[in-house]
Amino acid sequence: MTPETLRKQLDACIGSEGEPLVARDPVNQPMIRHWCDAVEDRNPVYTDEAFAKQSVHGGIVAPPTMLQAWTMRGLAPSEDAPKRTGALGRVIELLEAAGYTSVVATNCRQEYHRYLAPGDELHMVSRVVSVSDEKKTALGVGHFVDEEMSYRDASGEEVARMTFRILKFKPPAQAAAKSPTPDVRRPRPAQNQDNAFFWEGVAAGELRIQRCEACEKLRHPPGPMCPSCQSLDWDTVTASGRGEVYSYVIAHHPPVPPFEYPNAIALIALEEGTRLVSNVVGVDPADLTVGLPVEVAFTRVDDELVLPLFRPRSTP
Ligand SMILES: [Zn+2]
Repeated sequence: MTPETLRKQLDACIGSEGEPLVARDPVNQPMIRHWCDAVEDRNPVYTDEAFAKQSVHGGIVAPPTMLQAWTMRGLAPSEDAPKRTGALGRVIELLEAAGYTSVVATNCRQEYHRYLAPGDELHMVSRVVSVSDEKKTALGVGHFVDEEMSYRDASGEEVARMTFRILKFKPPAQAAAKSPTPDVRRPRPAQNQDNAFFWEGVAAGELRIQRCEACEKLRHPPGPMCPSCQSLDWDTVTASGRGEVYSYVIAHHPPVPPFEYPNAIALIALEEGTRLVSNVVGVDPADLTVGLPVEVAFTRVDDELVLPLFRPRSTP
């Protein structure tokens, strides 16, 4: 298929609504309870009937972010379970036949028109809004596909709307993905006159923090002006290198060379009060917790680059 034919066939899929996907069960308390347990949401308006009655809702409501759960097909859908057919299925079929066999979700946006309550019977209708021309991305060349999903109640009224963007892309050659060549190196940090002191510090085995000379407030990331007093005069202090995990995320997918997965990315709160983003090494990502005491570990990641990574503290 020529690119022009593919484009025409993709365009033919845009706009029309597919078959409705009907929720297997009405909105119900047990599913709400399990969801709240899973995400540790303790808001009693979702689970405590007496509390909910006194609230503005007048009764139990479902967490709005549960939206997608109601029309999911389940872990082991039977043959006759509702399937996602229609335009999106056709777009994916066309793109896969053209070699764009990998997929990654890139954006999701939800709008809620009203709260859902136990007993609401939902169905979802989707349409493909757009398919981009071929784009070059870090993952490979591919097409962005925008889908819009309208969630409706038994009367047909729209209760929420979701837009979802995926990238269908051509996977890089397997060998390259599995054993990164020495050419695939970590991105170089952007260096300029504002943050040169930080990287000079790293090269010297020191973690330096910018300090305002007028009001002595510390700041990070580095910048030319103090956000507190607007002074342009600054010097630096050397951090102890000790801190704790303030927040973190574990990246699993998609694997991008040369990073190792699962990739533990953390926001580190330094003893001095500023925070910086880094990796935590020397700990099973599954054991990472908020508040974990850590210390800087200057780590050579390739022949040119040393990074201030963090590891669990060896001394209290
Ligand atoms: Zn200042």
